[in-house]
Amino acid sequence: MIYNREVLRLLSTSSLKKYLNSSGALQRELLAEADRVRKKAVGANVYFRGIVEFSNICEKNCYYCGIRKGNKAVRRYRMSFEEINECLKFIERVRYGSVVLQSGETTFHAAQDFLLQIVRHIHKRYPAMGVTLSCGELSFDQMKELKEAGAHRYLLRIETSVPRLYRLLHPRDHSIARRKQCLKDLRVLGYQVGSGIMIGLPGQTDDDLIADLRYFQKNDFDMFGLGPYVIHDQTPLVTPNVRAWWNDRREEIFQKTLNFIAILRILMPTCNIAAATALEVFHRTGRVEALKAGANVIMPVVTPRAYRHDYLLYQGKPCIDEDATKCSGCIVGKVRAAGLVPALGIQGNSLHFIQRTKG
Ligand code: SAH
Ligand code: SF4
Repeated sequence: MIYNREVLRLLSTSSLKKYLNSSGALQRELLAEADRVRKKAVGANVYFRGIVEFSNICEKNCYYCGIRKGNKAVRRYRMSFEEINECLKFIERVRYGSVVLQSGETTFHAAQDFLLQIVRHIHKRYPAMGVTLSCGELSFDQMKELKEAGAHRYLLRIETSVPRLYRLLHPRDHSIARRKQCLKDLRVLGYQVGSGIMIGLPGQTDDDLIADLRYFQKNDFDMFGLGPYVIHDQTPLVTPNVRAWWNDRREEIFQKTLNFIAILRILMPTCNIAAATALEVFHRTGRVEALKAGANVIMPVVTPRAYRHDYLLYQGKPCIDEDATKCSGCIVGKVRAAGLVPALGIQGNSLHFIQRTKG
């Protein structure tokens, strides 16, 4: 059997391409092997993180993203301290164990202070709760302050590790070197470091995806949040041609994302890998399929309903009219139905991180 960690590490680019594009019996074998590797390395537990999308104010202009600064159709918001606290209470009540605080990227001082205040509050009032931040590129000092205030993890997708593609997807003043440096800084600061990419981007080749896999291994990340690229009409990337191209490739993008997750699980068995919400744009059971393919983290949206319509990074985001209570019961049931164990009431830290930092 070809799939084991050591063998895959040595696999040639052409073999990786074959698995990335596999379907039918070959894909079933790949996914089953990823599931086996997961159960052996980290067990059948699925960890929960309630995600609070606390602000859609962003200073950046990534060409793919619906809340980019240049999209004047978006109503901008920042949740109040009290609103965020209600979300935290909810997370505690339904025992998700961890919170992800996500937002657009801002550099102004007041926004940074606010985030710091929230993290301190969680540390004091909800000391058992795991805290993940996902707020874009911050300065070393800001990331340090937030770590000292009680943040445990940081999620910063590289989006693509390939400079040529990064250039096509971002304005000139967005820097892949800076993003890579941030990821290095987060590690130095003692965070559990998460990264990831989008799959199915216009201009992205299989070689690019394989370069991403190698980049992930080389940088020894602890966690991953990766998902399919989904079009958003109010972005510069989406021309009529790209829309047609993307619509034709929907199933291919979905399957390729599952295959990528499975390969990543086999390559990095002890990492936490999230099942991206964006998969549910393609299939109602998208996240469950990702869990079966080796993902072990799920991030139910806890953002109040009033704000969900204003935090659309991509089109067709699921559950924007549901409230968090309904999502909670639904997601726990889905995990059980996949034959996995909803690990409620614990932080669910990355075993990869625990092992690399012990002693
Ligand atoms: N501003 C922060 C966090 C919020 S964006 C940051 O950029 O890191 C979180 C993630 O949403 C991004 O990393 C990107 O991978 C994803 N995203 C943005 N637009 C998307 C799209 N059109 N399709 C799929 N994912 C998208
Ligand atoms: Fe802003 Fe993040 Fe969207 Fe880029 S991906 S525009 S940084 S919210």
